[in-house]
Amino acid sequence: MVATAESARLALDYIRTRMEKARRRFGSPPDAVDLIAVSKTVPSEEIVPFLEAGQKHFGENRVQEAKDKWPALRDRYPDIQLHLIGPLQTNKVRDAVQVFDVIETVDREKLAATLAGEMQRSGRHLPCFVQVNIGGEAQKAGIAVEQTQSFVDRCRNTHCLNVVGLMCIPPDGEPAGPYFAQLAELADNCGLDRLSMGMSGDFEVAIAMGATQVRVGSALFGRRPSKV
Ligand SMILES: *Cc1c(COP(=O)(O)O)cnc(C)c1O
Repeated sequence: MVATAESARLALDYIRTRMEKARRRFGSPPDAVDLIAVSKTVPSEEIVPFLEAGQKHFGENRVQEAKDKWPALRDRYPDIQLHLIGPLQTNKVRDAVQVFDVIETVDREKLAATLAGEMQRSGRHLPCFVQVNIGGEAQKAGIAVEQTQSFVDRCRNTHCLNVVGLMCIPPDGEPAGPYFAQLAELADNCGLDRLSMGMSGDFEVAIAMGATQVRVGSALFGRRPSKV
């Protein structure tokens, strides 16, 4: 289904209403939670209605796809914030720092060092999140839970990255709440107050656990084509 400005507005209102209910239950202040519309695999012409409807934060998981889609969109809608939410290879760091406004997936020393060097070179000092492998899954990206605090310290003190929070993707097929609670506690221990957690299936739970931004894709844009 191709979105119109009207259908995009309805989809956004529906998600925002659910976010607001969860936010009240948790008792966080109004506007404490940002909605990041995850537009990966969504063609530009289907993103435009959401931009027209006033959506500001978007998430993409591939540097090349973001580079293909977003510079032209940004020309027309300059005040958007683009979040990198997928794995970042060090050889894509230059493009990533150019195209994105927030890097949410810092998860290893070499990446932290490369990002720091590129931010220095380009003068674009982007806010970063450290991604935590909260379920300790072999196939998932993210720093191990027990190394998170020392890694955050090194990102800040050795590399001088502007780390603002933690991000996670909990294991599939398990209740996410306990993982979100654990990420919140870790962030607290690190002195970080931003939490990127919660997707289409569990953003209300995430907000109830203190998320400050949720990453919602399919509940806004419809189902993505299955992975090839
Ligand atoms: C795809 C993706 C999302 C959005 O997932 P939905 O279930 O479609 O809301 C959120 N976070 C990350 C890291 C993703 O890759």
